Amino acid sequence: MMQMNHDCALVVFSGGQDSTTCLFWAKAHFREVHALTFSYGQKHVHEVDVAERIAGLAGVRFERMDVPLIGTLAKNALTDGSVRMDEEKPAGGPPNTFVPGRNLFFLSIAAVYARERGISHLVTGVSETDYSGYPDCRDSFIKSLNVTLNLGIEEQFVIHTPLMWKDKCQTWALADELGVLDLVRRETLTCYNGVVGDGCGHCPACTLRRAGLQKYLEQKEREGHADE
Ligand code: ZN
Repeated sequence: MMQMNHDCALVVFSGGQDSTTCLFWAKAHFREVHALTFSYGQKHVHEVDVAERIAGLAGVRFERMDVPLIGTLAKNALTDGSVRMDEEKPAGGPPNTFVPGRNLFFLSIAAVYARERGISHLVTGVSETDYSGYPDCRDSFIKSLNVTLNLGIEEQFVIHTPLMWKDKCQTWALADELGVLDLVRRETLTCYNGVVGDGCGHCPACTLRRAGLQKYLEQKEREGHADE
């Protein structure tokens, strides 16, 4: 077995609100942090540049990996411009922004990448609380994959999911606690229409993000008044 460095974590990093919050969470918990970003044929390829910029601001090592295969295997609204994005979750299945196998694939690649560098901690921003019906954001899936990776690669990886039980409001609270609320608000890209920061304002990702931010800012203001 390879010598593992337990002070080091690898973050699966997209440059969105969730994984950026996780990047700073990792910085607070580990001596050394790597950010791994996948280019998988997403319509908004500048997502990768956004991720690189944020990694630079955070002062962590950035690696970009091209994996176009995952976007071409199945038809979905994030990688295929001819597919109209579901604005709401359809009955009986995930919305068409679901890229089948994405987290399975990303985390498996991340584990191999991490092993080569002696890193045993993997961090991902998935959340079951706000999950739009994506089966690979569930806690049971991540725990199952963790066991599978450890068996398949013969290492003791630990997959961390700091946002698993947080809603968007609580995720903003965590960013604030980590001192990066403004950075997350300004620099990250969550919007399905590719608009950085506060986004286009009407896609499902923007709606969720804005509602969470409003709720958090109102809550903060109330608490501020209560302290006076
Ligand atoms: Zn949007």
